[in-house]
Amino acid sequence: FPPVRVRYPYMFSYRHAFHAGNHADVLKHATLVAVLQHLTLKEGALSVVDTHAGAGLYKLDSNSATTSAEAEFGIKALLAHISKHGKASAPALLSAYVGMLRQFNGGKDIKMYPGSPIIAAELLRTQDRVMAFEVHPTDHRLLRTTLEQATSRAKLLMDRKDGFEGIRSLLPPVSRRGLVVCDPSYELKTDYAEVLNMTVEALRRFATGSMLIWYPLVGRPEAHDLPRKLKNAVAKAGKSWLHATLQVRAGAAGQGTGGGLGASGVFVVNPPHTLKAQMQEALPYLVEALGQDTHAAFKLESHGN
Ligand code: SAM
Repeated sequence: FPPVRVRYPYMFSYRHAFHAGNHADVLKHATLVAVLQHLTLKEGALSVVDTHAGAGLYKLDSNSATTSAEAEFGIKALLAHISKHGKASAPALLSAYVGMLRQFNGGKDIKMYPGSPIIAAELLRTQDRVMAFEVHPTDHRLLRTTLEQATSRAKLLMDRKDGFEGIRSLLPPVSRRGLVVCDPSYELKTDYAEVLNMTVEALRRFATGSMLIWYPLVGRPEAHDLPRKLKNAVAKAGKSWLHATLQVRAGAAGQGTGGGLGASGVFVVNPPHTLKAQMQEALPYLVEALGQDTHAAFKLESHGN
């Protein structure tokens, strides 16, 4: 990818409220919970940088959520599957994710869906911190309120800044233990190149840090090139990676019963050594729970751990 820079503020139309709790969020957030649970096993302070934070919290019965109905084919389908087959059927990684959502909702039905910065805020401790970037004017305001009202023990900070730019001054973190969560909307084609450039730069500054990158599997060459380029860049830096994709149905974006996206992937740099086994167990379950046709499938590959 060539180096790229976009001028902000850019007027985005993407709003995560229409997609919260969809199959892509299930894959991404279940992975995030597993990574954070592992990283918080050690006492040392942890810094989480969320480069594309969104609004932070989403009502699953809001107009946006019910109009798109994407959560019906995501978190709600997973909950229905677990309740049909029994809690014991759910793999550990998914039980932990669903358990976190239930706890967040006071042990009751999952009506409020936490986004990535709030998941981090929930799981982090007094010694930890979250830095969240969000450029959308409305979502930035919502995120500010959500973080101000959060009952997290960790220090929560945010900025209305381009996350690709903002992260530069934060690496390496003082704590020397950290996770970068990078989840752009890919509304700009240049986001693919930005993600790759950011990963290379982050590894140069902070080679031992972990990163969780999400991307949509759409019919754009950039989307298919991204994991290949990430694998090469991370292997060249001598670091380990894990790559998982979840396809819930055939067809390109916008087709099929579930609406929206049909498949997406997560790419984890310096993953916990326990993650592969957990994903190996969770992904077939997700295919069963969220799969909408016979094209539903997963892929799991890793290198170096
Ligand atoms: N990470 C969130 C979660 O899992 O709950 C969802 C994030 S959503 C997919 C992507 C967000 O990135 C949008 O809210 C969009 O406004 C914001 N965004 C797009 N480009 C950005 C940039 N360069 N820096 C910071 N935020 C950006």
